[in-house]
Amino acid sequence: MRVLKFGGSSLADADRFLRAADIIANNAQQEEVAVVLSAPGKTTNKLVAIIECAMRNGEVELQIKELEESFRDLFQAIKATLPTIDGTDFHNRVQTTMLQLRQFVHGISLLGMCPDHVNARIISKGERVSIELMKAALEAKALPAHLIDPVKYLVAKGPHLEAMVDVDSSTQNFRNEPLPQGHVAIMPGFTAGNEKGELVTLGRNGSDYSAAVLAACLRADCCEIWTDVDGVYNCDPRLVEDARLLKSLSYQEAMELSYFGASVLHPKTIAPIAQFQIPCLIKNSFNPQGAGTLIGQDTGEDKLAIKGITTLSELTMVNVSGPGMKGMVGMASRVFGSMSAAGVSIVLITQSSSEYSISFCIEAADKLKAQRALGDSFELELKDGLLEPVEFIDDVAIVTLVGDRMRTSRGVASRFFSALAEVNVNIVAIAQGSSERAISAVIPEDKISEAIKACHVNLFDSKHFLDVFVVGIGGVGGELVDQIQRQQHKLSEKGIVIRVCGLANSKGLLLDSEGLPLDHWRDRMSGATEEFSLARLIALVQRNHIINPVLVDCTASDLIANQYADFLAAGFHVVTPNKKANTSSMAYYHQLREVARSSRRKLMYETTVGAGLPVIENLQNLISAGDELERFTGILSGSLSFIFGKLDEGMTLSQATEIAKSNGFTEPDPRDDLSGMDVARKLLILAREAGMALELEDVVVDQALPPGFDDSGSVDEFMARLPQADAYFSQLIDEAKQEGKVLRYVGEIIDGKCRVSIACVDENDPMFKIKDGENALAFYSRYYNPIPLVLRGYGAGTEVTAAGVFSDVMRTLGWKLGV
Ligand code: ADP
Ligand code: ASP
Ligand code: MG
Repeated sequence: MRVLKFGGSSLADADRFLRAADIIANNAQQEEVAVVLSAPGKTTNKLVAIIECAMRNGEVELQIKELEESFRDLFQAIKATLPTIDGTDFHNRVQTTMLQLRQFVHGISLLGMCPDHVNARIISKGERVSIELMKAALEAKALPAHLIDPVKYLVAKGPHLEAMVDVDSSTQNFRNEPLPQGHVAIMPGFTAGNEKGELVTLGRNGSDYSAAVLAACLRADCCEIWTDVDGVYNCDPRLVEDARLLKSLSYQEAMELSYFGASVLHPKTIAPIAQFQIPCLIKNSFNPQGAGTLIGQDTGEDKLAIKGITTLSELTMVNVSGPGMKGMVGMASRVFGSMSAAGVSIVLITQSSSEYSISFCIEAADKLKAQRALGDSFELELKDGLLEPVEFIDDVAIVTLVGDRMRTSRGVASRFFSALAEVNVNIVAIAQGSSERAISAVIPEDKISEAIKACHVNLFDSKHFLDVFVVGIGGVGGELVDQIQRQQHKLSEKGIVIRVCGLANSKGLLLDSEGLPLDHWRDRMSGATEEFSLARLIALVQRNHIINPVLVDCTASDLIANQYADFLAAGFHVVTPNKKANTSSMAYYHQLREVARSSRRKLMYETTVGAGLPVIENLQNLISAGDELERFTGILSGSLSFIFGKLDEGMTLSQATEIAKSNGFTEPDPRDDLSGMDVARKLLILAREAGMALELEDVVVDQALPPGFDDSGSVDEFMARLPQADAYFSQLIDEAKQEGKVLRYVGEIIDGKCRVSIACVDENDPMFKIKDGENALAFYSRYYNPIPLVLRGYGAGTEVTAAGVFSDVMRTLGWKLGV
């Protein structure tokens, strides 16, 4: 015997209903089956809404009519596919149901309240409609069906709306009055009968429990729960797009998962099937061929330490504390006794080891009841100051990790808490069950989405998402977007999903939280008119709970650089080749690092010095290993490296500058290079990285032009005047040559002082051979002396710079990639 249960989602329309009927018919050909049905779609919610409206004396006739029509429409649609279906019993059932509903509603309106036993009768009506319709559908397929009345068979105890079933007594009922052989037995889910013979319900979503109970009473070989997903996933597939389907779960794992919020299974379902070791299969009625998830005796072949992550929301946390609690025997029992007497169920408990406080979570809807009950029970202690006023923390949720094997794995809790910390989730409380099968953290409710995504990424071998917003899409920015587009596929094979969610320049902004399509992005960008705004980017990230947003600033603008602190505080990593932020005031420099640290975000600026060369990283490594920078010399400008190299070959300054400019080696205005300011900024960045507290004004800058040279006017005017500088340089070059030296434009840090100037270097100097756009950096440190650590290589160009920016973007993922 197999028990098959179909949830509301599997009965929501004619197509789904008929699929369920097919699945039943296929199974019935193999063996005896008993079927448990929920109400179609959201019927129960609609019935609950009708009761609530009637209690407020509202107008409900329209809602009742709509419900009635939805049942009749469902029948008509089924009949269109199954013309032989006989609707007599179904229509009679709908008619009597509606008549009764109207009578009940009338009474509720008069009383202004709805007693629980009436409530139970109303909210269970949808299930009755389902079974009548399924019986007719199966009979139309020539399958005889038999309806089971759960009020008669299932013996219930407890409140009318949250009853439990006594499996032993119910089993006896099935033995006393066996089901007819050769019929598909169909039982409405969600209900049972109490000792007075009254109909009771088993709690919202209780049809899973009905199926488990029926399977236990009939000692079925299997209990199948047919729903709208392929089985149990390692987290709610609605919250995490790459949630993973689990092949198998132990009963205990399934119990913890469902208790802590995995709505795919009602928490009460497990006990009856576990008692008789009945396997339970969760299957998708939209994909009957899928293997589903098997719940059984052991954790199964998945062998994962952590099986799943769940969340429970709409909770309030209660803290009872005070000096009077220490060592006071029976305090916990009084706290929890008062909750139980008030009918408040406790979801999770933690107690501090000092015994000074007890904290627990309750459903938010129970807060008032709890407040009153604690106030009454501890009136004296509160008055005498033995207890502090009870604290209620609203809008909290619980995130729970579940897995049988967590007990024997190390480091799970620390990874769990670091994942939460990484997305700035403040942990309000922690609890671990003594079985070590579940670890829970209480967190603010509005952080659920971030929390679950971060846990999924960090605790499972799942995809890493990088959501990039590129501001400034000229040379480097544009090349970066092209490189991302080319790499997307390769990275996704390695489990990294990189999406460009925002593109902006001074003229427009494009945003898409799912990632912009990158084909023809330049055309699309030229049509974008919306202005760049920090607030819009931040709002998009918050609204979509994006956990790894990366701002890439490829502008040279102060304006954007001045907003890095706000971006970091809002949860963005910041990656930038823009030198402005790091060369702004020391105060801002420190502020950026402080905000990045406190919001656990990364500020990456490797490409501000030496383009794609790994300069900053190496310098940071030296310093953090305890080394000290004693002296630095370097050629830090690709364009000046080119120009000064050409001077060696006999070219004049103006010719060399002209060629550099036309090859795109210089800034659009070559004065930006020749003024030495670009090199000064790079030098300052290095000096600060090495621990020196200097401002840009402290850098002595000798420009790469003769002293007093007139650099005014437009670019063309300046270029036309530049030959006037040639003689000065020819003379310098000649003098240098006589000494076997060459001219280089170098940045130096000596004795804590920064200077940018034209230097004359001999062949023993590391800078001697540096030309053609190459950069070279020589770090003389305590460990690297007298031979310096030298980095050299191509230090300019959009491609290498963009590649360096790309690598910084990847490094925001940190240790997870082993980079
Ligand atoms: P039914 O109508 O079949 O009873 P439910 O809506 O009660 O269906 O349960 C199925 C839903 O549970 C799925 O659509 C899914 O969104 C949700 N769900 C939450 N957590 C999980 C999980 N860990 N695995 C699978 N589904 C889950
Ligand atoms: N129809 C009931 C509800 O929605 C029971 C169920 O579907 O499990 O709560
Ligand atoms: Mg359900």
